[in-house]
Amino acid sequence: MFDKILVANRGEIALRVIRAAREMGIQTVAVHSTADTDAMHVRMADESVCIGPPPGTDSYLSIPSIIAACEVTGAQAIHPGYGFLSENANFVQIVEDHGLTFIGPTAEHIRVMGDKITAKDTMKALGVPCVPGSEGGIADVDAAKALCNDVGYPVIVKATAGGGGRGMKVAQSAADIERAFLTARSEAKAAFGNDEVYIEKYLTTPRHIEIQVFGDGKGRAVHLGERDCSLQRRHQKVFEEAPGPGISDEERDRIGKICADAVAKIDYAGAGTIEFLYEKGEFYFIEMNTRLQVEHPVTEAIFGVDLVQEQIRVAEGLPMSFTQDDLVINGHAIEVRINAEKLPEFSPRPGRITQFHAPGGLGVRMDSALYDGYTIPPYYDSLIGKLIVHGKDRQSALSRLNRALGELIVDGVDTTVPLFHALLQEPDIQTGAYNIHWLEHWLETHLRD
Ligand code: ADP
Repeated sequence: MFDKILVANRGEIALRVIRAAREMGIQTVAVHSTADTDAMHVRMADESVCIGPPPGTDSYLSIPSIIAACEVTGAQAIHPGYGFLSENANFVQIVEDHGLTFIGPTAEHIRVMGDKITAKDTMKALGVPCVPGSEGGIADVDAAKALCNDVGYPVIVKATAGGGGRGMKVAQSAADIERAFLTARSEAKAAFGNDEVYIEKYLTTPRHIEIQVFGDGKGRAVHLGERDCSLQRRHQKVFEEAPGPGISDEERDRIGKICADAVAKIDYAGAGTIEFLYEKGEFYFIEMNTRLQVEHPVTEAIFGVDLVQEQIRVAEGLPMSFTQDDLVINGHAIEVRINAEKLPEFSPRPGRITQFHAPGGLGVRMDSALYDGYTIPPYYDSLIGKLIVHGKDRQSALSRLNRALGELIVDGVDTTVPLFHALLQEPDIQTGAYNIHWLEHWLETHLRD
């Protein structure tokens, strides 16, 4: 059993992990940059260590500083949260080489899933349905053209090392493919230092449906249903819900079992998310995230589980605390991501919070590291909070979201809260009739100055 764990992250996710550990009687160590000396995660942890200057590369991504912080404080395990080092196989290897435990899957699983082509090949071999497309990386424009003539337009060119929606370009027809291929390749090179790209059929009206899986690392695994994360801006999720409005119990059971069996077969340990595009009753694998997702609370709400505590248990070598039969869906949950950004252009707005009041009441959860007088530093991403609501059905979750948004006060900076007030007025949001393009189309015609 761990006595002390180090949380290699900041913001709301660092608090999330600290809270889970504290309930288990485990001490916590926060790490922070000099820009985060006054951050909530530093205040809330039992101990804290300054690991470097403000830029992430010099602090939250500094592997030697994080390992040294473990050695200085005697932390036995590291929880990476999401982002930063959470999907860095090299980091996991170094953690293990120092006799520490990484709370997450093995370096090998992270490596396999981090390379999208290898991930797709692996999933295909495990019986998971994939999007039609290239068998591997595409070497040049001629190869791209030949493949697209076979697959049929439209297509999407994607970076093998991609993430965060970067390095992806759509080609509507043969006239576009050269530009799409070359731009995706140069963006991939700039963003990930790896210019390999691959091509998939571009699905025109899919939903983004992801399956939460959980494995014990010893051949047992379960699924915790799906989340619908189709409401995206520039491939970034802004509103997530579970269960998915368009998914039947039979579909969930079928794809959930395929996913659970796939991760069981590879002895996957801990939380993982298998992402699909879903169109006309078919699921198409796009990628697997080998970590906790930002939107994990909607799953926690409908299943009544604590995924972070479960990650810690499994990392300690304990069995999972639930079986597939224990996992029964109760009601409906929605999460909205609140960013410090100015609409309509979504430009980052760091600054001082003059007043913060979190909503509360039945079925409301606010995961945020804000407090009155806190200054949001300009160095990190603009997520400042997640508001999660849970109700007996989708309609009551929507009403609760509306009520909770009305109670929320964040003064001093611009936020994306007005976007959610506006979205709740939309009939398509009320009925759940949206796909991955809905929000981009809506933003073009609404939210103008
Ligand atoms: P990232 O790792 O950068 O998030 P993903 O492969 O998960 O990249 O894709 C992110 C988003 O891009 C998806 O949620 C979807 O909106 C869009 N997308 C990806 N692949 C396709 C495809 N084949 N057809 C249509 N849209 C796609």
